[in-house]
Amino acid sequence: MRRIVVRSSPVHGRGVFALTRIRAGEKILEYKGKLVSWQEAQRQYARSAAEDGHTFFFDLDDGRVIDGAQGGNSARWINHSCAPNCESEQEGSRVFIHALRDIEPGSEVFIDYLLFVEGRQSAALKQLYACRCKASQCRGTMLAPRR
Ligand SMILES: [Zn+2]
Repeated sequence: MRRIVVRSSPVHGRGVFALTRIRAGEKILEYKGKLVSWQEAQRQYARSAAEDGHTFFFDLDDGRVIDGAQGGNSARWINHSCAPNCESEQEGSRVFIHALRDIEPGSEVFIDYLLFVEGRQSAALKQLYACRCKASQCRGTMLAPRR
């Protein structure tokens, strides 16, 4: 039985929604896509310009990136929230999305992307990754806080 569905989201573009009740700790799906270097991801990004602000990149902790635009699955439509109900867990060079708390049918699935961007964060970049999650603790951006 399918547990999730992709449909238009009130937060942004398309989103992923629970079809059934998902319990805290459950593995929901894998974030699939082509494994590329950070440099390749930047070139890819420049080409596609991520026109609607949907990022399909998932940063791995070794600096490589999963590009969900190439061979990705529904996970690439998961929207960002600063108060997410799911989290990503890296297992080797694969990434799985787990529920952080119980998710009711019809609820949208969110993760905190904590995107890392090298170099200067231009106004255009900040605009592109602006967060509209409306959580009370929203930090206003999908980018990771500066270390
Ligand atoms: Zn936010």
